[in-house]
Amino acid sequence: MKRRDLLQMTPGAVLGLSACSSKDALASLVSSSASGRGQSPLQSVKMPPNTQYRPPAYANQGLRNPNMNLPTAFSGSAISYSRGSSAYANVAMTFDDGPHPTNTPRLLDMLRKRNIRATFYVIGGNVDRYPHIARRIVAEGHEIGNHTYTHRKLTSLSESEVRKEMRRTQDAIVRATGVKPRTMRPPYGALFQRQRQMLFSEFNYPTIMWSVDPQDWRRPGPSVVTSRILSGANNGAIILAHDLHAPTVTAMPATFDGLLSRGYNFITVSQLLAQKG
Ligand SMILES: [Zn+2]
Repeated sequence: MKRRDLLQMTPGAVLGLSACSSKDALASLVSSSASGRGQSPLQSVKMPPNTQYRPPAYANQGLRNPNMNLPTAFSGSAISYSRGSSAYANVAMTFDDGPHPTNTPRLLDMLRKRNIRATFYVIGGNVDRYPHIARRIVAEGHEIGNHTYTHRKLTSLSESEVRKEMRRTQDAIVRATGVKPRTMRPPYGALFQRQRQMLFSEFNYPTIMWSVDPQDWRRPGPSVVTSRILSGANNGAIILAHDLHAPTVTAMPATFDGLLSRGYNFITVSQLLAQKG
């Protein structure tokens, strides 16, 4: 029973009595008990203070990620990453293609409840459409990364077009949130080596790929998304998902709790890159 339901019950309902007869029934209960002992039961009950009593923990309090106050300043010379150090039981959840007007806030609630920080690879056009959601992402401690402005395949664009995609998105993110993205992820994972080099030298963006791909964009159903992530995760994993898709967000509570119960802690991509070892 939920606590709120209990509070809303009348004394009669607690005793299992119907509302109309509760007063009379209560009175007869007291009087029959009183006559049996010859005094009021309310005066005869003497209880020592119960020092052992502790208020019950709220049921459904759930699993929580510990506070992960790790450095975010990374300085590696690698221009591309698909995972972090395997020396620690940390994983980075990444969500691409948002912000989405309903899915992203729903996901943010799930993350906040579990004290999890994730990394959002946002599309610049969506940031301009929903700047308040981009702001919320950053305000709640998540990392934000560049995922281009129009989500075109960068391998089919000229160098100046790639530059423009990055610049427009970075500007939109700075406008909306006040922070500059530190990493990028190419749409479809498609990026030539020379393009990675250019993004690293001109924007200081390492290219972030992934090590676990549940193929959630194919919409296999929430339970399949969860089981693919749980079976694919290991130390240092970068996990790919899309907050664009409602079933992916639906899969996240079981995914987060499954990873937490297996002993993984959640950190951001920058924290993962900053970890040595
Ligand atoms: Zn994408």
